[in-house]
Amino acid sequence: MKNTSMRAVQIIRPGAPFEIVERDIPQPGPGEVRIKVQACGICHSDSIVQEGHWPGLQYPRVPGHEVAGIVDALGAGVSRWKVGQRVGVGWHGGHCGTCDSCRGGNFFGCQVALQITGISFDGGYADYMVAPAIALASMPEDLSPVEAAPLMCAGITTYNALRNSPAQPGDVVAVLGLGGLGHLGVQYAVKMGFKTVGIARGKDKEPLARKLGCHHYIDSQAQDPSAQLQKSGGAKIILATVTDGDAMSAVLGGLGINGCLIVIGAAQSMQVSPLLLIGGRRSVKGWYSGTAKDSQDTLAFSVLTGVRSMNEVYPLERVAEAYERMMSGKARFRVVLTTGQ
Ligand SMILES: [Zn+2]
Ligand SMILES: [Zn+2]
Repeated sequence: MKNTSMRAVQIIRPGAPFEIVERDIPQPGPGEVRIKVQACGICHSDSIVQEGHWPGLQYPRVPGHEVAGIVDALGAGVSRWKVGQRVGVGWHGGHCGTCDSCRGGNFFGCQVALQITGISFDGGYADYMVAPAIALASMPEDLSPVEAAPLMCAGITTYNALRNSPAQPGDVVAVLGLGGLGHLGVQYAVKMGFKTVGIARGKDKEPLARKLGCHHYIDSQAQDPSAQLQKSGGAKIILATVTDGDAMSAVLGGLGINGCLIVIGAAQSMQVSPLLLIGGRRSVKGWYSGTAKDSQDTLAFSVLTGVRSMNEVYPLERVAEAYERMMSGKARFRVVLTTGQ
């Protein structure tokens, strides 16, 4: 391989397998930064690229929005970052800054130029990538690239949903599901001072829940999770990390007065009783991950409190196997690719 070329993992059309190709190392344009990728998490949302579930997605595309690496080159006009700096890039890849959503501070809802890493532009399944400078988060020295990568999507999503919720220290916060998102969600909830309840299927998940710091564990196969939550006065927040709408519906009755089910797992549909919502002024809302600053806060909080993702690590060349592992749902708990850089 020439030293002006690199490895990239691309999808050439919806449904096509991952292919590892040699490409020229990309040059950053104005306002962009080139990153030497060290690690990139594999997220379930990467299946959007592989399966073609994003209208207008242009192929070939390199997926990957849980990126950790080093700033390698700066495009014109970039002053905020320096070559050699450790950075992460997450799902939110940029916004216009001038539309009404952006002017209102709702950058995730940008109506004009919303950029998603690994979807709107090539992501981190490669030795190098180019990202808008606005998409960069500073990565603390105390986090290795493998530790930081999954926090750029699974981490920020759970952390940011919880810190923007109305729950106060001491309130009951339940986390539904103890997988890739949930095992981080319970750690953040504990560290934020919530009375944290883990909910999952099976008695065998309880030791994990306890190890992650849960104050209570509910086995939803053996017990009615709603009734169990009501015994503690009802949850202020239930963070739904599963992709099973029925499992979400089954915990709704566990919300306390003014309680809120925050949905971050992309289930097809769920059932909600209007009477349950009205009677207790309860709500169901979604949460979208966050901006690069939110990612940076996630990384800093994780260092401060010791929150870490449990990862299975694969070298970039074993991407197909790593992706299969993630899609199987059997990974404990996030899968991370490394480039060896
Ligand atoms: Zn993701
Ligand atoms: Zn905008």
